[in-house]
Amino acid sequence: MSKVLIALDQGTTSSRAVVFSTEGRILAAHSVEFPQIYPQPGWVEHDPLSILNSQVTALTEAVRISGVSVTDIAAIGITNQRETTLVWDRKTGECVHNAIVWQCRRTASMVDDLIAKGWGDAIREKTGLIPDAYFSGTKLAWLLNELDLRDAARRGELCFGTVDSFLAWHLVEGHPHVTDATNASRTMLFNIATQDWDDELLHVLDIPREMLPQVVDSSQVIGMLDPAILGRPIPVAAMAGDQHASLFGQACLKPGMVKNTYGTGCFMLMNTGDQLVRSQNGLLTTVAWRIGGKPVYALEGSVFMGGATIQWLRDEMHLIASASESEAVARSVDSTGGVYLVPAFTGLGAPYWDMYSRGTLVGLTRGTGRPHVVRAALEAIAYQSADLMHAMAADCGFTPEALQVDGGASANKFLMQFQADIMNVPVVRPQVMETTALGAALLAGLAVGVYASVEETTKAWQEDLVFQPDMAAEERTALLKGWQRAVGRAKNWIEH
Ligand code: ADP
Repeated sequence: MSKVLIALDQGTTSSRAVVFSTEGRILAAHSVEFPQIYPQPGWVEHDPLSILNSQVTALTEAVRISGVSVTDIAAIGITNQRETTLVWDRKTGECVHNAIVWQCRRTASMVDDLIAKGWGDAIREKTGLIPDAYFSGTKLAWLLNELDLRDAARRGELCFGTVDSFLAWHLVEGHPHVTDATNASRTMLFNIATQDWDDELLHVLDIPREMLPQVVDSSQVIGMLDPAILGRPIPVAAMAGDQHASLFGQACLKPGMVKNTYGTGCFMLMNTGDQLVRSQNGLLTTVAWRIGGKPVYALEGSVFMGGATIQWLRDEMHLIASASESEAVARSVDSTGGVYLVPAFTGLGAPYWDMYSRGTLVGLTRGTGRPHVVRAALEAIAYQSADLMHAMAADCGFTPEALQVDGGASANKFLMQFQADIMNVPVVRPQVMETTALGAALLAGLAVGVYASVEETTKAWQEDLVFQPDMAAEERTALLKGWQRAVGRAKNWIEH
């Protein structure tokens, strides 16, 4: 039996493990869901033990299902939900509180306060992030405040970590307290230019350095898996945030390459190489990965309502019975007949950043029916993604050659074709859609020498389908103009 690689994909609603051949083929996978905890409106937590136990079960089950011998596992890579914040006791590993999940808004006022005190520009400059409660920094400060933990933290008794760090501490022999540069770049405490925790930001939030993990490469052996788990020590050789791993798993290794993941939301990342591009269009700058001590940077933008728009059509509007039905319904008409849906249900993100916008359906006529609205919903996912790509192109000064896609809604061929048409860029779908897990497995394989170079990992990426743009320029221009007008109607709707 040849060697295999395993990815631990610790997500927001489930923990997953995937066993890959070194050619990038999926041999087995197993997922375990765990509960979401909502202590108050807008607050989201996870039980740390649920995260840990579900991940260990996913791992042991995936290995069992694959039938591979434990001696054939060359390495394990970790990829994870980002920004989720944990604090645990350095001696016992016991968490002081539930994990505060990235979605949790409990620290929104702390962020407002930072901005009011003039820290907004420094945060952008140092971390590449737009100040927000989403990132770990204020979540950690909240825990230190609420539980009065600063003295213990200063004495070195506590560890802070994101989920990668928490899993590494618990799963790796000797309890290393580490995080990788991609996860660090989501904390709002990490200077992405110097690749170190930023003393000024630590001071502002009063976070003791003693509790922070050591920042390591995304592809490096952190240590050996606790032999109690699979009966044998195995190198744990990669850590990367989910979107970063997906960019790697999509083989977007050259500057200018872009991927978009169509899940509940959409996440678009563009590799910008060693260039730390500062966005003028509301995008984030982040570490794509760090290998051999060298950071590769990326621009990132997200669409809040991606596949969730289709869930809304199904669950709230009852216009479709299943997400996949949206494709046939959309194709039953030639166009939306001038209808646009702007799914700004929770406001608009990049490049608009208008929290006061709300969902809008415009251009209705007496002839508008269900298929026009369904089609408008799918097109809206593509328009929002095109907006991100246009923002990236404006920041970088060139249009990407192609868009690599994955995620649940990329199964929709109507959506993918419309995406190619509206961007005038080919859309490329790979054979292995689990690009996040694949990226983590490849990063781990690279660290243990399964692949001799970063370039060699691209052999694991195989093209499945290419959607070539096929729309006349005038039509594209007219449609995009209509979308912009529709967005204009959605903006600034809520009185404030
Ligand atoms: P997540 O990882 O965010 O849970 P997934 O990658 O599993 O998301 O994708 C699920 C999302 O994709 C759902 O929001 C669903 O509505 C959407 N989706 C799934 N299949 C289709 C389809 N054929 N057409 C359009 N949307 C789809």
